[in-house]
Amino acid sequence: MPVIFILIDGLRPDAITAERCPRLAGLRARGAATMRASSVMPSITLRCHTSIFHSVPPTRHGITTNDWRPMARPLPGLFDIARAAGKRSVLFYNWEQLLDLGRPGSLELSYFRNTAYQADGDQIIADEVVRALAIVRPDLAFVYFGTVDTAGHVYGWMSDGYLGQLEEVDAALGTLLDALDADCTLLIQSDHGGHDRNHGTDLPEDLTIPWIAAGPGIRQGYEITAPVSLLDTSPTLAHLLGIAPHHEWEGRCVEEIFEPV
Ligand SMILES: [Zn+2]
Repeated sequence: MPVIFILIDGLRPDAITAERCPRLAGLRARGAATMRASSVMPSITLRCHTSIFHSVPPTRHGITTNDWRPMARPLPGLFDIARAAGKRSVLFYNWEQLLDLGRPGSLELSYFRNTAYQADGDQIIADEVVRALAIVRPDLAFVYFGTVDTAGHVYGWMSDGYLGQLEEVDAALGTLLDALDADCTLLIQSDHGGHDRNHGTDLPEDLTIPWIAAGPGIRQGYEITAPVSLLDTSPTLAHLLGIAPHHEWEGRCVEEIFEPV
């Protein structure tokens, strides 16, 4: 069964309530989660994603802005080691700066549409994911939803406009969940939070993120006690895929999510 990794850009943990986002809250209830995972400083989207997919801090990968640059000392990311292990990965996103998360040749399918700046932008992505997954049958799918961050920048984090957009994204998540097999494995998180109309400071509102795993073998209704950071995502996803993490990765698999055997 595929591993599905979903990222909701700019989602703050304190925005997640059962009334506002029942699908997200439902995943939290049937999985292992922490609402106190950590982003990296300063929490800028491309910098965060490069740390997520390469399991190293920004001081190591050197991506400092939202403009991609080749790494001075390249190291393989999650898509690259998955490919080397014979796994099939797919990517769906609506913010084009994420174009280079994997090296050329690492993906079975890459779908981009420039919809992060419209209210139904993540629903459009979710509909496409459902269509494609029925055909491609990957081992790993990364789905990026960008509209909550956009709403934060326009209306302010935790404003009515921001929270209303989260409701839209929860519906898009529902479209995706309804189409997936019940026994697939899910990891869902954000890259950073936000405050006022921005993010990137060392405020807890910017740096604290939700991190939720659910699926076969994963504890249900479990609150993760250990610290979790962006760097731990790829080692955990690699473990879920049954492949070894790269030796230069600095994060660790969050072992605590798994049911004791
Ligand atoms: Zn972001």
